[in-house]
Amino acid sequence: MNTKSFYPLLVVGGGIGGLTTALALARKGFPVHLIEREAEFGEIGAGIQLAPNASKVLDRLGVLAEISKYVVYPEGIVWMDAVSGKHITTLDLGENFVKNYRYRYFVMHRSDLLTCLLQACQQNPLITLETSRPVVRVEDLGDAARVTCANGEIYETEALVAADGLHSVVRAQLIDDSAPVCSEFVAYRGAIPIEEISNHAGLNNVFYWVGPDMHLVQYPVRRGELYNQVAVFKSKRYRPGSDDWGTVDELEEKFSQACEGVRTGLVKIKRNRRWPLFDRLPADNWTRNRVTLIGDAAHPMLQYIAQGACQALEDAMCLADKMEEFGGDIPKTFAAYQAERFPRTARVQTSARQFGEIAHIDGMGLILRNAYFAGRVSDDFTYTDWLYGY
Ligand SMILES: Cc1cc2nc3c(=O)[nH]c(=O)nc-3n(C[C@H](O)[C@H](O)[C@H](O)COP(=O)(O)OP(=O)(O)OC[C@H]3O[C@@H](n4cnc5c(N)ncnc54)[C@H](O)[C@@H]3O)c2cc1C
Repeated sequence: MNTKSFYPLLVVGGGIGGLTTALALARKGFPVHLIEREAEFGEIGAGIQLAPNASKVLDRLGVLAEISKYVVYPEGIVWMDAVSGKHITTLDLGENFVKNYRYRYFVMHRSDLLTCLLQACQQNPLITLETSRPVVRVEDLGDAARVTCANGEIYETEALVAADGLHSVVRAQLIDDSAPVCSEFVAYRGAIPIEEISNHAGLNNVFYWVGPDMHLVQYPVRRGELYNQVAVFKSKRYRPGSDDWGTVDELEEKFSQACEGVRTGLVKIKRNRRWPLFDRLPADNWTRNRVTLIGDAAHPMLQYIAQGACQALEDAMCLADKMEEFGGDIPKTFAAYQAERFPRTARVQTSARQFGEIAHIDGMGLILRNAYFAGRVSDDFTYTDWLYGY
């Protein structure tokens, strides 16, 4: 017989967004139950960049000090031309940056971040966690919500927060606003032991090598023990509904035009898995009665300004703040949360697309971009204040 459980607050999905939501709500005194699809909590073997807007949330949640043990603080974000190998511009992340934003910019391994968040959840008596619970059905009951897992277990709740990512089952069933948008770009990525990188541009920076319809991002993670690389390009073979695009031969062909430094880095990138890149146009429809979405389930974005997880962290904190403000009144909390988060996340989603266009531009646009950036000083924060200073 199927079991049926009731929890006042239920989070679906135990990625960065879901675990942070559980932690933020519990730290405000609300008991939370979280269910995760996979048999174990985990993240992929690649890096993540976290800007001051994310550090601020992690600090408020009391986990920044523990997380700091695993990070690398880059001196700058350096844009290089992937074809000519020439420097384009640098965003200085040093003293003036920290003075401006109060928090540092850091990079780390995803699994280190997830482990820290998971441990903080496990240590909090108000949080209970279950794995191997893939949600397959969601029902909006008006003054409650019900989810059914693949094994037939049923959970009822007064407040359902879905943090089930880009291909959210909850979103598909409750909002039904079509599939995410495929960008026709694909990523290959992974972190390797730092010793395996003999020829690099420098270990103290985040490097963005940008070229026509492609880029390579490189930075050290895990206290400098590993080196993370992400190679991204637009596939000419993309066909809707097909999975035979963005292949390894296309990767090789696309990057064959890159400068030697980029080609050397590319050799070390794992080719066994590819990540097609999706986003959505902003839409302010992520809340229905007692159900709301957070993170990629609500507002998936392209990774070009490294903000998807940062926005999920901001969401989690905002939701918890609203819960406190409205004394646990769920409809008011969810409505206020979406009203506050929509304009912010919409701007980040659209800016990420624009930033991708700037990075991947060719021809006269490329010449003008490089000339424009050449006049920029490295501690000019005009373009980042709205994003990092939130
Ligand atoms: C190449 C690349 C680089 C990126 N770099 C950065 C970066 O540097 N900085 C940054 O801030 N962001 C970055 N991002 C974006 C970031 O990875 C995502 O925005 C973030 O991981 C979203 O977190 P989430 O918790 O919302 O979703 P997810 O990480 O997708 O987590 C969803 C969780 O829900 C679970 N789940 C899914 N379906 C179900 C179900 N039916 N039932 C139960 N559980 C379920 C999953 O198993 C998973 O644990 C990058 C993205 C890409 C693709």
